[in-house]
Amino acid sequence: MRVEKMKGFFDLKKNNFDPKNPQSCASCGLYKDCQSPKMKPYGKNKKEVLFLGDFPDIIDDKRGKQWQSRTGRLLQKTLSNLGFDLFEDGLSYNACNCCTPKNEQPSPHQIYCCRKNVLKVIKKHKPRIIILLGNAAVQSLIARVWKKDLGGITKWRGFCIPDRDLNAWICPTYHPSFISQKEEKDNLNVAMTIWKQDLKRILELIDQPLPEYKKEEDSINYIAKTKDLKAIIPVLKEADILSFDYETTGLKPHRNAQKLISVGVTTEKGSWGWINTPARSRLFAEVMKSKVPKTAHNLQFEDSWTYFKIGVPVNNWKWCSMNAAHILDNRRGITGLKFQTFVNFGVGDYDSLVSKYLKSPAKEGANALNNIQDFIKEYGERELLKYNVLDSIFGYKLTLKQMSLINNG
Ligand code: SF4
Repeated sequence: MRVEKMKGFFDLKKNNFDPKNPQSCASCGLYKDCQSPKMKPYGKNKKEVLFLGDFPDIIDDKRGKQWQSRTGRLLQKTLSNLGFDLFEDGLSYNACNCCTPKNEQPSPHQIYCCRKNVLKVIKKHKPRIIILLGNAAVQSLIARVWKKDLGGITKWRGFCIPDRDLNAWICPTYHPSFISQKEEKDNLNVAMTIWKQDLKRILELIDQPLPEYKKEEDSINYIAKTKDLKAIIPVLKEADILSFDYETTGLKPHRNAQKLISVGVTTEKGSWGWINTPARSRLFAEVMKSKVPKTAHNLQFEDSWTYFKIGVPVNNWKWCSMNAAHILDNRRGITGLKFQTFVNFGVGDYDSLVSKYLKSPAKEGANALNNIQDFIKEYGERELLKYNVLDSIFGYKLTLKQMSLINNG
């Protein structure tokens, strides 16, 4: 039986994942000890759905095609009950396309080596939905974009991520081998119920094309002069809802040394960003005091910084997209704005340049200063504003989506 590990699988250091090693079959080595090395994708793909498993098991290896063992039959049967024929309607491929010794999960390095084959198959067959079955498939396709705390399938299952590069929905769920292991152990098979619900929801996307996205950063208005900020204050005060975000020197605003460096704002009329000054704080205070409904991702942060550094309490909080994310799905580690932006809008790395500069040294406590000034010296104010306003844009988009989900039950 294959070994499906649910925890600790993505400890990249332990598993010798090294992106500097060549991404090749020679570096991977799995092809040396199997009967059907470099297995080709299988299936007629009439409905353009790719099923990405982990690796061919011993029986698949013997027969030279995917999903031939009991695990595969479970997948076939479950899909058939949903009106979907795995081999007629779908295409099957794996994160690693050679059998592994002793049916063990492939290492992150082996998955990394085989990713180029997975991307080639996607490029050729252009699936509209890619179902990631289990940890290895998550590592294959999600880790190429999401380079932070990857975690395992339990964290990712249930999301349908609009992958803008692959032009496909990326939908992770459990591997059928995990479901059959659970089935053997538990009478009440909760995992099976969740799995069937996931598959049903994913297959409902067959007729739903990916939304058309414009590059968010192209819509940013960078405000360089205080008079230009003055001109848009009435526009901000009349918005249906206003999403705002601050970049600051730290977490807590109470110390004088802490500074509010920049402001990003998005409404239905557009997106703006500016470097904060005392005169601009006074102008923005008018917006904060006004009745315009407000949203932020982690309301407490923007609320306390507004009070201490803009000098007024925030009037008319309408939404906190972080709290709403928790209400919609209470799994741990998924409520941050970057994660929510990735799973909802397919943008996974817009903070890659700035993130290390925004971390305060943990040993100095919550009042420590971060290195945002070094970031400005290195990359300039505009790059900081771009990041700041993107936060407000994604906070805005997330708020609207959550409102629609929560209000429509
Ligand atoms: S698993 Fe993939 S990368 Fe590794 S040897 Fe087989 S085809 Fe090549």
